[in-house]
Amino acid sequence: MTTLTETYIEREANVLAHNYHPLGVVASRARGAFVYDVSGRPYLDCLSAYSSLNFGHGHPTLRRALRRQLGRLALTSRAIHHDQLADFATELSALVGGEMVLPMNSGAEAVETALKVARAWGYRVKGVPDNRATIIVADNNFHGRTLGIVSFSTDDSARKDFGPFLPGFVSVPYGDAEALEAAIDDTTVAVMVEPIQGEAGIIVPPSGYLKRVREVTATKNVLFIADEIQSGLGRTGATLQLHNEGVHADLVILGKALGGGLLPVSAVVGRADVLRVIQPGQHGSTFGGNPLAAAVGLAVVRLLAPGTLQRRARELGDHLHRRLSGMSLLGVVGFRGVGLWAGVDVDPSLATGRQVAEKLVERGVLTKDTHGSTLRFAPPLIATPGHIHFAMDQLEDSLRSLSAGR
Ligand SMILES: *Cc1c(COP(=O)(O)O)cnc(C)c1O
Repeated sequence: MTTLTETYIEREANVLAHNYHPLGVVASRARGAFVYDVSGRPYLDCLSAYSSLNFGHGHPTLRRALRRQLGRLALTSRAIHHDQLADFATELSALVGGEMVLPMNSGAEAVETALKVARAWGYRVKGVPDNRATIIVADNNFHGRTLGIVSFSTDDSARKDFGPFLPGFVSVPYGDAEALEAAIDDTTVAVMVEPIQGEAGIIVPPSGYLKRVREVTATKNVLFIADEIQSGLGRTGATLQLHNEGVHADLVILGKALGGGLLPVSAVVGRADVLRVIQPGQHGSTFGGNPLAAAVGLAVVRLLAPGTLQRRARELGDHLHRRLSGMSLLGVVGFRGVGLWAGVDVDPSLATGRQVAEKLVERGVLTKDTHGSTLRFAPPLIATPGHIHFAMDQLEDSLRSLSAGR
């Protein structure tokens, strides 16, 4: 670490709340798949801000859309109309296979939105008695950090000392469609799951699970809400991970990459008859659907519409997964993933995920650990096969150096 980096990190520690424990890199600019630190050193970004940077840093088309809109109209609030929102909503709906859009800013806000819509639908359409609605979620879920959302987290560190919690949620084991079916009763208004659990370590459910969730919820008149904030928009080699499974949800939650790595943009997309339960004055956001967000979101949708980036994610993912499958002797005890996304379990007796991530930083690769000895790889979809092999070479070298130091 250079003194420049150390000085900066020390200054932050004095004035920033310690709600994160960042790696020892101080970024000052970035382009494409690379981040450059304050001394100009490049790092291959294999984290992509948790899939917010699916199109890399400063994608020229997205920057052009932002710059153009910045010169015309940035903010109105939705007290009036503006000329960017209809195109954004129309093309986003067409891209993901929905009918109507409710735009928000952050992922957590879009999740809260979907939950409110589901409860209102439960009372107004399904006929659930007042204040009795329940929503089924999955163990080890990650849907954000608001009080409402941490109320149904099963992660102690997300909940401890933040109670009292919001009632009305039931959590069942992830990937177990029978447990989910058994938990449904007359008060159930929705089931909400991540098609792949990103934060939990890129956990891919058994094949057929999402199809079964769809069948069960349809049969029992329960909404199926898919949180595709991290799995969606190209990461898994399809526009949605649901598309890979041939499944259609009632509501899809998008965020992260929807802002093209430039702005926070999120949305709930889905059935018009469901989203129509919300009437003027019942839900909103000052910044949700603002002109800059809509213009960038529209440019993101148009980048994904031809399907080229999704195909690229699949091809790069083949390189990534092939390389990982050859690392068992180096201490990789397991890995999972779909498309350009992998959760890599390192032998816990060799190192923690954090230690491997720090070795990778020394070798110019940015990743993030999660849950003990798991590392996440999610390079931008605009990376090259050479970038993937570079990252995997550095991972092998890091694991060798940890073995040697044992
Ligand atoms: C990141 C994430 C969220 C929360 O998004 P924020 O923008 O951080 O509020 C919700 N769900 C999933 C699956 C996520 O990965």
